[in-house]
Amino acid sequence: MSLVAGVDLGGTAINYTFLNEQEHFLIDRLCEHPARSKEGPDVCLRQIEEGLDVAAAKAGFALDEVVAIGLDTPGPASADGVLSAKGSTNFVHADWAGFDIRGKLEERLGKPVMYLNDGNAGALWGHFAIFGSGRATSISAVIGTGLGGGVIIEGNVVKGRKGFGGELGHVLIPYQSIRGIAGLTPQCNCGRIGDLEAVCSLTAIEKSFLPFFLPRYADHELGKLGNLHQAAKLVRGMAERGDPMCKEIFRVQAHGLGLFFDEMINTFDPDALIVGGGALETGVEFQHWFLDEIRAAMPTQRTEQADIPIHVMPNGDTAGARGAAVEALKVAREAGLMR
Ligand SMILES: [Zn+2]
Repeated sequence: MSLVAGVDLGGTAINYTFLNEQEHFLIDRLCEHPARSKEGPDVCLRQIEEGLDVAAAKAGFALDEVVAIGLDTPGPASADGVLSAKGSTNFVHADWAGFDIRGKLEERLGKPVMYLNDGNAGALWGHFAIFGSGRATSISAVIGTGLGGGVIIEGNVVKGRKGFGGELGHVLIPYQSIRGIAGLTPQCNCGRIGDLEAVCSLTAIEKSFLPFFLPRYADHELGKLGNLHQAAKLVRGMAERGDPMCKEIFRVQAHGLGLFFDEMINTFDPDALIVGGGALETGVEFQHWFLDEIRAAMPTQRTEQADIPIHVMPNGDTAGARGAAVEALKVAREAGLMR
């Protein structure tokens, strides 16, 4: 039996999964190994290889059966997995600058390795969970500290020329039309004003929404904390419990996402829109309310497009490894490696 592996290299841990020709994942939960990326590429690649052995043994098969590996990491990196020469927050060791992580891992393992950045891998997993490996088109927005995601066109991830395809967080939206934030200038860490991440992220809550809304809600308990960083992390839970200010912040974020999805509907006419990330790690009732608010914020769609579904992305913590495995399966099939 031929298998492919999915390897998600995060800040501190590597997460593994395996996928077979019948499109079944052979590991249900997280299967983690320490990443040790701070110690540089040599140590980290050895960790990836060692963890792969451990994971295969745990799942009960020999590593010989793995014909291809999908790898995903945080960016920035080229479409083919060469990490940015300028370094990045997750790859601080000097030897990582400009390091060809895909090529070097392929050399080490002696098997083909495919690369995706973590946003695109998450998007591909969300897409696969809904559509399988068919030729559908979807747009995924993942709301976390920042805003990640990806664009899948007819089953293929849009990586872009330099690996920046699907950087949805930095797409400008007409934020001035969001009800309830007149006078607010939402600035993103990238320097843009009013892009999607500036409105729809944990960072936006801390940097823009709490400073804007707290003076309007006198004596709010989050104001008394005296720490916006901590307060921002409490907003989701309080919104879910019905706190008026926190719910308003989430309504504003849903409005921003609605405007963005409207742009995507007119650009791609997709089969589905998908929302994931920490912001929606809530009960189903809150998720439904949030999706309804996204829908309500969209301008009127033409009749043919009014029924494009909005889904919540499943299984957040295994998304990267699973998406990477899906990419590996696609390429392994095209190369005739699956037996
Ligand atoms: Zn930005």
